[in-house]
Amino acid sequence: MSSTNKGNQTIGCNVSSCVHFDGSENMCKLHSINVEPMEGCHNGKACDESMCGSYKCQHEI
Ligand code: SF4
Repeated sequence: MSSTNKGNQTIGCNVSSCVHFDGSENMCKLHSINVEPMEGCHNGKACDESMCGSYKCQHEI
């Protein structure tokens, strides 16, 4: 993604347990998110290395 896309991204997501999830379009309702590294993980597997730092469980509100 080039820097010219800044501010024009869309965030596709399938995490239905998140309060920010829009299930009608499988999208995130936020304008931006933070992607965080998993602490202490260095195995190179995408499923282990990163996570959405903006996730908020819909059952916590
Ligand atoms: S905050 Fe993260 S996990 Fe939640 S809907 Fe947006 S992208 Fe998905």
